[in-house]
Amino acid sequence: MENYLVSARKYRPDTFQSVVGQSALTTTLKNAIKNKQLAHAYLFCGPRGVGKTTCARIFAKTINCSNPKEDGEACNECESCQSFNEQRSLNIFELDAASNNSVDDIRSLVDQVRIPPQLGHYKVYIIDEVHMLSASAFNAFLKTLEEPPRHAIFILATTEKHKIIPTILSRCQIYDFNRISVNDIVGQLQLVAKSERVEAEEEALNIIAMKADGGMRDALSIFDQVSSFGNGTITYQNVIDNLNVLDYDYYFKLTDAFLSVDLSKALLLFNDILNNGFEGQHFITGLSTHFRDLLVCKDPDTLTLLEVGAGIRARYQEQAAQCPLEFLFTAIKISNDCDLNYKESRNKRLLIELTLIRITQLSDSKKKIHELISDEEQISIQPLPTLSTPVTQPTGQPQPDASLQAEHIQSTFSSTAATILHKEVIASEVKKENIASRSIKTIKTSSIRKQTEKAEASIHRQDEEPVLNKSFNVEDLRRSWNSFTDIIKNDIHLKNAMKACQPVLQSENQFEVVVQNPVQEIKLKEITFKIESHLHRELQNNNVKMHIRLTESGENVRPFTARDRMEAMVKKNPNLDLLYRTFGLDLN
Ligand SMILES: [Zn+2]
Repeated sequence: MENYLVSARKYRPDTFQSVVGQSALTTTLKNAIKNKQLAHAYLFCGPRGVGKTTCARIFAKTINCSNPKEDGEACNECESCQSFNEQRSLNIFELDAASNNSVDDIRSLVDQVRIPPQLGHYKVYIIDEVHMLSASAFNAFLKTLEEPPRHAIFILATTEKHKIIPTILSRCQIYDFNRISVNDIVGQLQLVAKSERVEAEEEALNIIAMKADGGMRDALSIFDQVSSFGNGTITYQNVIDNLNVLDYDYYFKLTDAFLSVDLSKALLLFNDILNNGFEGQHFITGLSTHFRDLLVCKDPDTLTLLEVGAGIRARYQEQAAQCPLEFLFTAIKISNDCDLNYKESRNKRLLIELTLIRITQLSDSKKKIHELISDEEQISIQPLPTLSTPVTQPTGQPQPDASLQAEHIQSTFSSTAATILHKEVIASEVKKENIASRSIKTIKTSSIRKQTEKAEASIHRQDEEPVLNKSFNVEDLRRSWNSFTDIIKNDIHLKNAMKACQPVLQSENQFEVVVQNPVQEIKLKEITFKIESHLHRELQNNNVKMHIRLTESGENVRPFTARDRMEAMVKKNPNLDLLYRTFGLDLN
């Protein structure tokens, strides 16, 4: 049987030239070798799998080569080079500080340092994960680092530069390795695929490169894994299935749902994603990235920042064209906030769902502002004060989000959530208005109500949680009613109408408001949802329901306008009418 060699080893670069994605750094190293400006200690920093150890090995080989090439590379032919290539050189010594971090380990290394090389000029000591050395090991090493023998060169490698003590840092030449770009990784994977005769879709390699997060070694391991799964072919679908990667398609569909203000679709797509076993945070970071990618598509100058394959690029550009810049800015902000708050959130699923709702509202409020401009019948409403209680599930238990069941989505939405949602609609409306610097701060409540009801309907489908149902009397009801009246600032007619038409309890949770004219009726009906939400919260009873009825003639109602009052007084004393007409009095 043929010896199988994993790609990460088989395709490990053996010249500076072949190191992927670190050209600036390898050029500097080559020049240093050419000009014989070698330091005694180097510190290679950077994420895992980006070529730190590989570069250290190539460096060790090159400085020992007896016949280096013009371009500064090792010849790969001389005795020294061959001993390096066959991994039998005595001039290279590797210590993995992650597992050998004691003082004794360092002492045995220090002992070896004294012995000069038999072949070649330098002995190179590579200490991997040097930040893992214990404090005493560090101290034992420091002395050698201060006064090394001429033939010794140290290359310290670390993924965590900030953990290296300053006394070490100051004695090293520092090289920062970059994450390798997706394009560079894809390029290298294509070469490997070609030489391994593996059929690979570019889009699939793209996903592998992204999954590897800048590390070539990881990318090659994944490549091997997927290639053996697909029997020598690597397709997009294989990769998605194998790597637990969220299909791009989800994000495109979600963005379409946001743009068309289809909240139900967005929530269902998210549910689908959870059902496929994806973790909430994974989803939300992906969503932020998707918005970010759309944003960079908006400007030809930033298009180079889009790290996706050619196949999918057109789709990004197409969707980006449909997204207003303002939408993308705010959507990135909202999704990023969700990402930041995710760990602390006690109800992670609800947090993400609220995020989806808020993003959906971005497009909706835009539409409504447009409607506002052409609409004359507007009334002014102040936003309700924001609820300070954190959004928690009634059970108060932390949730393992990925394992949540499908039906849970609806049950997590309490009326509280609906209230929050409602207020967010209002708040976002007002905010939009402020941004637009419109002089009249007005909101068309009917459209808000329509939207909120739609959202509410979609999230209340399986509302199974206990609802608030505190009992109250008519005084409680009127106090809450009046406290709502107090927060109405700009619509004096509505305010007066509400003051005049006090609620009357009809049954345990239902009350009636008798209005005196159709204008009052319309105004109150427009904000029924808002009033009810307010009462639900104030009375801690989610079943409170308001009925509005236009007064029948003859029904004893309180005079409302000046003219009403005048008429009421004339009924009692007809002489008033005479007085009024004789002197041509004005009612205002
Ligand atoms: Zn050589």
